[in-house]
Amino acid sequence: MKIKKIMVIGAGQMGSGIAQVCAQSGFNVLLHDSNKAALEKGMNRIEGLLQRAVDKTRITKTEKENTLAHLNPSYDLRDAKDCDLVIEAVIENMDVKTAVFQTLDEVTPEQTILATNTSSLPITEIAAVTNRPDRVIGMHFMNPVPVMQLVEVIRGLQTSDGTYEVIKKMSEDLGKTSVEVNDFPGFAANRILMPMINEAIYAVYEGVASVEDVDKVMKLGMNHPMGPLTLADFIGLDTCLYIMEVLHEGLGDSKYRPCPLLKKYVSAGWLGKKSGRGFYQYEDA
Ligand code: NAD
Repeated sequence: MKIKKIMVIGAGQMGSGIAQVCAQSGFNVLLHDSNKAALEKGMNRIEGLLQRAVDKTRITKTEKENTLAHLNPSYDLRDAKDCDLVIEAVIENMDVKTAVFQTLDEVTPEQTILATNTSSLPITEIAAVTNRPDRVIGMHFMNPVPVMQLVEVIRGLQTSDGTYEVIKKMSEDLGKTSVEVNDFPGFAANRILMPMINEAIYAVYEGVASVEDVDKVMKLGMNHPMGPLTLADFIGLDTCLYIMEVLHEGLGDSKYRPCPLLKKYVSAGWLGKKSGRGFYQYEDA
């Protein structure tokens, strides 16, 4: 099966990045969002990023124009009717995602592959609301999508080998490197990253070292580009807590219990960079 036309659903941070990368790689892309203002903002964000790349001579003006020529907004989910692939990147909520997948199952031809960019929800459960669980798959891009190399390709229980191969090839066509992952809580990336961040928070909570020193240990001692607490602020402490809860509940092991300090910060509204305060303070939030 050859992918030519793609719909990306959700024009937020991730969806707009995915749509940009797909259009830049020559696919015909429709970007859809149920919120008109969010859709326009997403389209403008892509234009702005491409213009910045032109200004920095990373791409030519023609490349920018070609990318935009491959990208169109869609105000109706039913426009997915002639797409070969749909990549869903709406908010991280099971009810919202399953409602989208049920509609997609009705409006798209049976060969259309339905992918989700979820960072934590079970692919198998999303696939189960459709009549084509063999053609449902996880395509977990990293943020920011145009910059990050990795795509976790997640096989649900019933995802077929054919679907997996098409998405693996598609990821390569986007200039990304994919890894094959099975459907377990947190997949691979968050299964490894989040417990490390949680442990860094425990180190602060138990007075092992200060916030700054915990970050220094991992930056200077392990050559991480960013300390785990800086990274947690960047991801959003609410997101970190949510994923730890998914791991704790899904794997049933007390080693995944979220640190009480993380819970306390989230209840106080200290969500990291986006709220102006997390483990660090941010003036420009
Ligand atoms: P976001 O809040 O920036 O964007 C979500 C968009 O979905 C919004 O524009 C919203 O209007 C739209 N939306 C909501 N319900 C919809 C519906 N029913 N139909 C169409 N559009 C709808 O969120 P985001 O950060 O881009 O995350 C999107 C997905 O990507 C989530 O599943 C998230 O877990 C996953 N993800 C996020 C990151 C990250 O770092 N932000 C990384 C990897 C994966």
